[in-house]
Amino acid sequence: MSRIALVTGGSRGIGAAISKALQAAGFTVAANYAGNDDAARAFTEETGIKTFKWSVAEYDACAQGVAQVEAELGPIDVLVNNAGITRDAPFHKMTPQQWKEVIDTNLSGVFNMTHPVWPGMRERKYGRIINISSINGQKGQFGQVNYSAAKAGDLGFTKALAQEGARANITVNAICPGYIATEMVMAVPEKVRESIISQIPVGRLGEPDEIARAVVFLASDEAGFITGSTISANGGQFFA
Ligand code: NDP
Repeated sequence: MSRIALVTGGSRGIGAAISKALQAAGFTVAANYAGNDDAARAFTEETGIKTFKWSVAEYDACAQGVAQVEAELGPIDVLVNNAGITRDAPFHKMTPQQWKEVIDTNLSGVFNMTHPVWPGMRERKYGRIINISSINGQKGQFGQVNYSAAKAGDLGFTKALAQEGARANITVNAICPGYIATEMVMAVPEKVRESIISQIPVGRLGEPDEIARAVVFLASDEAGFITGSTISANGGQFFA
C-alpha cells in the first residue's frame, strides 16, 4: 500500500512540482488549492492527481478538507504545508488587511492544516510534516514584514512541534527556498528579477523541482531521524 500525501497549494508552482515528485516516488497524492479551478483541472488532466478546493486560512474548511481526502484516499501519512501568498508593501504603507491575509494563510494555515491530521498520525505512530517556509523568514526582506514574520513563525512552529511528535515517530521539518522560478517570482519586473539573480551565488533562480526533491527526501520512511530541521535551498544566498 502506498503512503498518502497531501500537498497544500499543490496544483501550481512549487506545490505542483512537489505533488508530481511525490507521485513519481510512489505516494498517492492529494493536491489542495484555493481558487484557480482552471489550473487545478489542467493539473489533474496532466497528472491524474486529485485536487481538493478549500482555503488553508479557514480552520473549519481544513478539518472538512482533511476528512474528505482521508475518506477518498485513506489516512494522511505526509502533509506538505506549501500554500502561500504575498501582499508586499513597505511597513509604513502596509494595511492591517495585508498583514492579516498573509498571517492567516502562511502561518495560521500551517496550524489549521496540521491540527486535523495530527491525531491520526499520533494514533498510527507515523507522520511526516514538511513546511515550506522561505529564505525571507530566515533573514527578513524589505517590503515583506508580514511575509517574513509568517515564514519565521513557520520555523518556530516546526521546531516546537518536532519535539511533540518525536516519540510518535512523526517528523516535522521545514524547507526554506530562495528565489524559485514560479509565477510568484516571474511576476516581478524583469529589472528587479535581474538584480535578485545578481545576488544569488549560483547565478540563477532555483527550479521548483529542486525544492520538490528535498521534500521527497524528508517525506521518506528513511528520513525518520531528521526532525525539527530547516533545509535551506537558496543557491548559496544565505547561510542560516
Ligand atoms: P504560487 O503563487 O505559484 O502558488 C501558490 C499555491 O498556493 C497555489 O496553488 C494557490 O492556489 C495556493 N494557495 C494560495 N492561497 C491559498 C489558500 N488560502 N488555501 C489553499 N491554497 C492556497 O506560489 P509558489 O509556488 O511560488 O510558492 C509556494 C510556496 O513556496 C509558498 O508558501 C511560498 O511562500 C514559498 N516560497 C516561494 C518562493 C519562490 O521563489 N517562488 C521562495 C520562497 C518560498 P490557487 O492555484 O488556487 O491559486
